[in-house]
Order: sequence, then structure tokens, then C-alpha cells
Amino acid sequence: MTTTAREDAKHKRPQDIAIIGAGFTGSLLALHLLQRCQPGDRIYLIERNAQFGRGLAYSTGNPNHLLNVRAGNMSAYADQPDHFVQWLRRLPKATQALLNEYPTVTTFVPRGLYGSYIQQQLGEEIWRRGHGANLYLVTDEVVQVHREPAKGRGKPLSVELGVGRKLPVDRCVLATGNLLPSKNKGAIIGNPWDEKALKDLDQQSDVVVLGSGLTMVDTIISLLDRGHKGRIVAVSRRGLLPRLHLSAGMDDLPRPWQFDTPPQGHNVLQLLRHIRAATREAASQGHDWRIVIDGLRSHTQRLWQEMPTAERARFLRHLRPYWDVHRHRSATRVMSRILEAIQRRQLMVVAGRIDSMTPTADQISVAIRPRGKDGRLTLNAQRVLDCTALTPDLSKLELPLLRDLIASGAARPDALGLGLDVTPTGALIDAKGKPAKDLFAVGPITRGTFWEITAVPDIRIACETLAEHLLPLSRVDAEQQRARA
Ligand SMILES: Cc1cc2nc3c(=O)[nH]c(=O)nc-3n(C[C@H](O)[C@H](O)[C@H](O)COP(=O)(O)OP(=O)(O)OC[C@H]3O[C@@H](n4cnc5c(N)ncnc54)[C@H](O)[C@@H]3O)c2cc1C
Repeated sequence: MTTTAREDAKHKRPQDIAIIGAGFTGSLLALHLLQRCQPGDRIYLIERNAQFGRGLAYSTGNPNHLLNVRAGNMSAYADQPDHFVQWLRRLPKATQALLNEYPTVTTFVPRGLYGSYIQQQLGEEIWRRGHGANLYLVTDEVVQVHREPAKGRGKPLSVELGVGRKLPVDRCVLATGNLLPSKNKGAIIGNPWDEKALKDLDQQSDVVVLGSGLTMVDTIISLLDRGHKGRIVAVSRRGLLPRLHLSAGMDDLPRPWQFDTPPQGHNVLQLLRHIRAATREAASQGHDWRIVIDGLRSHTQRLWQEMPTAERARFLRHLRPYWDVHRHRSATRVMSRILEAIQRRQLMVVAGRIDSMTPTADQISVAIRPRGKDGRLTLNAQRVLDCTALTPDLSKLELPLLRDLIASGAARPDALGLGLDVTPTGALIDAKGKPAKDLFAVGPITRGTFWEITAVPDIRIACETLAEHLLPLSRVDAEQQRARA
């Protein structure tokens, strides 16, 4: 048999694919795979938490935790940009009231509502389009992925669940998403989204927040919502706050800047100069700097891949804090509450680093060294909420699956420790540098290869591309495709 004939035969055979993690990424990948399924194919969507389709970002029940991307850019499908806005417009009036306005492309929506949108897409695929026979929802934690000895028509991989059951599959995709920081240690809360984090907190007490990005913003909103009156001190290396999105009142999405000469990624300093020049040019034409940053989006993954590792490291060392606050902006409705808290001196944002954290009888004494100043600021806080990192050192994580994949040599961290090392198609690269044919990753855990792969507009493209690689649309016959359209 020729290679092409062998590949054809392989693709025609029923395929079993495991997706580990059913946050936005895993759920969307499942949706794209289902559109490419034939009778007999099985997609296992495995989630350790009770809820499918929400993940970390869209599980929040707080209606003041808003998306930081406008509704017009949050469609689950890149080729149907108004899909999410149309979904919002079909919601019952009582639910729409949560939005404070009639939904348009520029609305910033509560994140929990977005989770409901993704859940409903899964439901539609199962109940309305009749894909229930192809999709298996499994509630458990995947603890290990085993490579099985090649025997007859046996499956090459088996996915071991926490209860000990093993699922034999052809291919497996890690969509494990945003990794949580360390566990809570007494008054130091490693997971600021943990519902218990603020329980029993005295409203008059002082609180220290590590980090000043969007996670800090979420946390302060939660504190204010529960009526916190005490002082809040947020500490980060540079004390930078997320910038605001262009103000409300627009009827359309801002048009991203078109670069005359595509920016090049080989040298970070030159790239920075190019972006600054574009910003000046945009300003001279009456445009805002934000459209230039948005105009970079279609180039960012290429720029990152062009950068030598030393330049990427330079970017992370010197520019990342600035990139983060300009790229990942906040809605005015959210940020105005943060700015008001600063104005009334309840919230203080300090550029500096933590010198020490010493637990006392019922508090924790935090010593902060402000950046570029002598002396220390000492605070007795009732809680320290760590909002700094979502992707800590993988080798130190207490997650059995990732620890085992790395220890067995089936996967390795990327050169800068941002996630797992993968090829541009998402194949895991093993300890010897060889890409796997049957193990893949998608979403934020592939940041080392793509950098810009944490938000919906980028993840949705990655999911569709990977689905096409795993189950090409060509294996579904034309009649089936028409029926599904
Ligand atoms: C607070 C927050 C707000 C955000 N807001 C926005 C926004 O407004 N707009 C935007 O575009 N992007 C936003 N993002 C970016 C966000 O990363 C993506 O939009 C997206 O939610 C990432 O989804 P994910 O499924 O890859 O990861 P996650 O949401 O982290 O989901 C991964 C899932 O995998 C499961 N899992 C992990 N390991 C295992 C295992 N071994 N076995 C079984 N299950 C496992 C986890 O339980 C989890 O449910 C936000 C991110 C955060 C953290």
C-alpha cells in the first residue's frame, strides 16, 4: 500500500480521540471534531470538574466579572463572527437585563454567561444535530496516558482516569488550559478564584494582593462586591494596571491597524521601534494606540516563532509587563471601580517586591520593598491573595498527568517554561526532541510555541486547525457535509 493509501485507510477507520479538559478549548475542539465525525468515531471529552464548557475563566457566578473582550470578538466560530451576539439577542429578557444594554458587538458580557453559551453549543451538537453517539462526556481526572505495545488492531494509547478505568484511544489531546498557581497555604491563597478564599474575611481587615493584572482586577471586584472596607495593597514588579478598552458608545468594533510593512520578530528592540512608529503614524491620523496593538494580532504568532529563544527571553524579561497591560485590557465598567477605589485610597498599587511574609497568630506580616526606594513597607494582612501566575514551573506542579508526561519523557517543557513544547500543529515534542504522532496539546499550555494563544479569538482558530489535522473534513462524505451545514 502507498503512504497515501495507508493514510486514507487509517482515516476511514473509526477513530477514538480523548480530549483532556473541557474548558473553552477542549469543548470547542470537541465541537469541531464532531462536525467531522463518521458513525463509529468516538470523542471522549474528559473533565475533572463537574461543569463542562466553562473552565476557569467562565465558571464565575459573579455578574460583575466581565469578559475583557467585546462580544463581537467572542464568537466560538471564526467564520461566523456575529454568532455570540445573535445568541445573546435570543436570550430571555430577564437574562439580557444582566447586560445593562441591548447586546451589540461592543458589549462586555458577564463571563458566566459566556460559559452558558459554550455549554449550549455542546448541547446543540448532542441533542439537535444528533451527535450524541459520537460524544462521550467523562467526569474524572486523567492521571496518566500510557503508550500500549503495538498489537493487531489495538489502540496505541490508553488514558487512565482517577478511578482506575482506562480508555483505549487512537489520539489524545491535552486541553488542560490555565494552570493554577500553588495550593492555598494558610492565609496565603494560591488560587484567588477559590470560593473559600474570601470566606470569613473580616471586612475591615487589610489584604495584600500579589500582582496587578486582570486577575487582581477580578479579585478586587469580588472584595468590593462583598462590601470590603479595609485597605487593599496590590504589589507587582512594575505596579502597572491593565489599560482601558476604548470607551463605550461605539456602534462598531474598532478596525485594527494595517501595517504597510509587516513587522519582523528577529530583534525585539527593532520590533518595539516599528510598533512605536506605527503608533505615532496612527496618532497623526487621529487614531488611538489600541488599534495598533490590535493590528499586531494577526502577526503575533509568526513574530514569536521568528524570534530566537534569546530574544523571546529578552521580551519576557523587559517587555512582558508592558505587553500584558496594553494587550489584555479591561472594560471601563470594571476598571472604573478599581480607579475609584484607588482615588478613595482604599486600594494602593505598589511597584516593588515582597521581601518576606511571616505568619503571626491570626495575621500575616508582609514586608514590601518599593521599587527604586530605600526602606520597607510592612503590613499586617488577614489574607494574601496570589494573582501573579497561571503557568508556574511545570516540573514543580502537583498535577499527576503533566508530571508523569514530563518524567516519562513523552513531553517536555518549552525552552522558557511557559508550557509544553509542541510543533506548530500542536504535536507534543518528547524529551529527545521528536514530535509525537498521537499526542497533542492546544490552548494556553502551548504558549511557548505560539505566545498569543490565551484568548478566544486565537484559541478558536487553533481548535479548528487541530480538528482538521485529526479528522480531515474530506473523510466525511459530501452528503453528510450538506446535511450538517
Ligand atoms: C479569569 C480569566 C478571564 C478570562 N477572560 C477572557 C476573556 O474575557 N476573553 C478571552 O478571550 N479570554 C479570556 N481569558 C482567557 C482564557 O484563557 C481563554 O478564553 C479560555 O478560557 C482558556 O480555556 P481552556 O479550556 O484552555 O482552559 P481552562 O479554562 O483552564 O480549562 C481547562 C480545563 O481542563 C481541566 N483539566 C485540567 N487537567 C485535567 C485533567 N488531568 N483531567 C481532567 N480535566 C482536567 C480543568 O478542570 C479545566 O476545566 C480569561 C482567562 C482567565 C483565567
